[in-house]
Amino acid sequence: MTKVLTSYGRPLTKLRVSILDACNFSCIYCMPEHRAFDKSDNYLSPEEIGAIVGNLIPFGVEEVRLTGGEPTLRHDLISIVEKLSTLSLRKISMTTNAFQLWNFLPALAQGPCRSLNISLDSIEQTNFKKITNYDGLHRVLDTIERARSLDFKVKINMVVMKDLNHHEINNFVRFAEREKIEVRFLEVMNIGVVRARFQKWYYSGHEILRQIENEFALSVVPSSADSTAQNFVTANGARIGLIASESMPFCGNCSRLRLSSRGILRACLMKEGGRDLRGVPFEEYGPLLHEVAALKPVARIKDIHEPMFQIGG
Ligand code: SAM
Ligand code: SF4
Repeated sequence: MTKVLTSYGRPLTKLRVSILDACNFSCIYCMPEHRAFDKSDNYLSPEEIGAIVGNLIPFGVEEVRLTGGEPTLRHDLISIVEKLSTLSLRKISMTTNAFQLWNFLPALAQGPCRSLNISLDSIEQTNFKKITNYDGLHRVLDTIERARSLDFKVKINMVVMKDLNHHEINNFVRFAEREKIEVRFLEVMNIGVVRARFQKWYYSGHEILRQIENEFALSVVPSSADSTAQNFVTANGARIGLIASESMPFCGNCSRLRLSSRGILRACLMKEGGRDLRGVPFEEYGPLLHEVAALKPVARIKDIHEPMFQIGG
């Protein structure tokens, strides 16, 4: 089976799998005021996820990241990971807000999903609540500690917004140094509810780096060609990442596909549409995948009205 290439010649090796759209948090940059989630009957079952991912592997998919919505709200999360664990994937990881992660950790620790990207936009209790609409900072911090004690590889993702949490950037660098944990700063993206407030909230990657470099000396660490992050290390050895999707987009090097919680294979976060893979026999995957690959944009699409929790972040 041949790998499917984008028009810019990259194999599509990474797959984000959204396993539901529902979430317990209501992050101000992600959830609209009036939110409506899909019926859980519509979500792909563990068997369907296993079958679709298994069918994508011969075409080049090597890595899977589970996301949502909030993946830890799926009571069958461990069954999903078990289905994936039978496939020949190089890496299985998950993005989570970590609030409900605690009870899953012992079972997850027995399997292949050992890399966790944990979203943490504030380490101040009141600001955490303001951003997520959930009073959960201490539980998230305790869960991060427990995950690390169980040898999970944990990275922290902080979405930076002007006048909401940009004052916390250097506290996050200190947190990274103290806890010896990698922290990645994300530019807020012009998606869903952000579109009405983008100019107000946007804090560029350059501003983020300038703020850090006022206090810390950063050295560049080389990253892989399809990495979304620019990586740095502080003089004290803290690993810092910058994901500047708005000001320094990486579309021309992107190797990602996205599978929605209903089974739609999508070419790009910013591009609507895709191809429905639910119930599709393996023989039909080749042409469908070429159609999806052809949808991959080479240049950054300005914005999208669909919210991130529905697309799968
Ligand atoms: N609920 C999980 C979480 O928050 O980690 C997984 C899904 S969430 C949609 C995935 C990632 O997308 C999170 O790191 C979140 O901060 C990020 N995100 C959501 N909306 C965003 C936006 N408009 N700009 C930048 N990042 C965003
Ligand atoms: Fe939920 Fe994640 Fe969206 Fe926050 S960013 S509302 S935790 S899906």
